[in-house]
Amino acid sequence: MQKKIIATLVGLSVLTLAHGAANVTTAMLNDASKATDSVLSFGMGSEGQRFSPLTQINTKNVGQLVPAWSFSFGGEKQRGQESQPVIYKGKMFITASYSRIFAIDLKTGAKLWKYEHRLPDAIMPCCDVVNRGAALYGNLVIFGTLDAQLVALDQDTGKVVWKEKIDDYAAGYSMTAAPLIADGVLLTGVSGGEFGIVGRVEARNPMTGELLWTRPTVEGHMGYKYDKDGNAIENGVSGTVNKTWPGELWKTGGASTWMGGTYDPSTKLAYFGTGNPAPWNSHLRPGDNLYSSSTVAIDPKTGQIKWSYQNTPNDSWDFDGANEFVTFDMDGKRYGGKADRNGFFYVIDANNGKLQNAFPFVKKITWATSIDLKTGRPNFVKENRPSDPTTGPEGKKGSTVFAAPAFLGAKNQMPMAYNPQTKLFYVPANEWGMDIWNEPISYKKGGAYLGAGFTIRPLNEDYIGAMRAIDPKTGKIVWEDKNSAPLWGGVMTTAGGLVFYGTPEGYLKAVDAKSGKELWKFQTGSGVVAPPVTWQDGGTQYVAVVSGWGGAVPLWGGEVAKKVNFLEQGGSVWVFKLPAK
Ligand code: CA
Repeated sequence: MQKKIIATLVGLSVLTLAHGAANVTTAMLNDASKATDSVLSFGMGSEGQRFSPLTQINTKNVGQLVPAWSFSFGGEKQRGQESQPVIYKGKMFITASYSRIFAIDLKTGAKLWKYEHRLPDAIMPCCDVVNRGAALYGNLVIFGTLDAQLVALDQDTGKVVWKEKIDDYAAGYSMTAAPLIADGVLLTGVSGGEFGIVGRVEARNPMTGELLWTRPTVEGHMGYKYDKDGNAIENGVSGTVNKTWPGELWKTGGASTWMGGTYDPSTKLAYFGTGNPAPWNSHLRPGDNLYSSSTVAIDPKTGQIKWSYQNTPNDSWDFDGANEFVTFDMDGKRYGGKADRNGFFYVIDANNGKLQNAFPFVKKITWATSIDLKTGRPNFVKENRPSDPTTGPEGKKGSTVFAAPAFLGAKNQMPMAYNPQTKLFYVPANEWGMDIWNEPISYKKGGAYLGAGFTIRPLNEDYIGAMRAIDPKTGKIVWEDKNSAPLWGGVMTTAGGLVFYGTPEGYLKAVDAKSGKELWKFQTGSGVVAPPVTWQDGGTQYVAVVSGWGGAVPLWGGEVAKKVNFLEQGGSVWVFKLPAK
């Protein structure tokens, strides 16, 4: 027994020497939500709770928070910055607009290395040239690019260790989400739901990039696994061909997995949200159109779908169900919470997908009156679905309906947080609506595949955004903090009794997790559309957030875009701490 332990220790030290530093392991990632000296993954733990047990910065002293350092991404490429930093062994890794990644010295804020991915001119990101973050594994830092590639770099040197093409950017594929490591497997999705791509989840060996399996998220497509030589072996069709997609449209069916996923080590399942079915005009594709606008639970070992839950069957409003499924404990069971673009908050059994609760988290929802908790299906308001354009004037345009939420969603890419101490979710919500109508459309490779027109409008004079504390048990909004511009950054909550979030007006704010009372704010110089993080180093707790206005709102926001066009672009990361005593 003793001999075996010694042998293991010797083995470990050899491994450590070989790589010069202790590597990020599966065990570390499974425990990442409890780690205080690092931020090892997007979501501050693969469950995505964005909760830190740190208490040095708390409700009593957060008002004294001051900048420690700031770093500019530089260049002329100051578009939307939606990135969450990851932090390990004295380094911060941050992705930036136009598929860039920086490594920064945590102590000094000095740049250690930079990698700028060479992008072709013809990339087709739908919603700004953003990136949401990187994954850490072994000695590698891995991120996705706007031309649909995955790049793995050495954490110490920034040298490319492997690079893999995911798909054809000219067909509309891109990558903006942070990759997910689930039980030692690298899981990624694809962006491009507005171009008639086919959504899927892929698994790779994180150290080599070698493909292990693919799982399409449009019913009818074959899944594959791969042998050591890279040969594809059929691994079962997703769902049943033509069951919820009559005709041929499933072949370009959308359901992009553009937000990436979460992974819960206790259920051993990865949860991916899926985007709208393509095209937007729902009359072309009668049926539920699985697995669009859904949460799909996948076994990372086998690539099989264990369960799925569809938030918006036969979606007609671009209600991507791409939002994060955040697992948490309630009444001795493991559930997942999801604030959907369609305006409802869902509480679902994380093991089997059974709906436990569903309630509105915005004030105006026109497309459905409620979600039937028995069947799990929405109670649609028929007359509020945009009509079939072939029945309109000259067969060219359907009736215009006013719909709420707008297609940019009651919540979009900005991740929410869950605090196990207050037992509340903190959800960055937006109140807006849209005029929407359908038009004829046919698929053309690389062309926008919508079949709909729209104009987004505010619903209220004084605010669009609202940070809301939501009780998943009762469905009650416990408090809210209104914000003039739409909220587009993510949230973090801490055991210090705090909730941190940024605003497009440029502020990083700290509010009381129990009451929502504002305790501190700092003007970062550009809009914040990214989620904050925190960690402790040398006995000091730090908070960081990326600043840089952009994303989908200025591009697609209609009347709302006019309201926020005074905001300036940027590209930097800010780090804060308490002043030295
Ligand atoms: Ca979409």
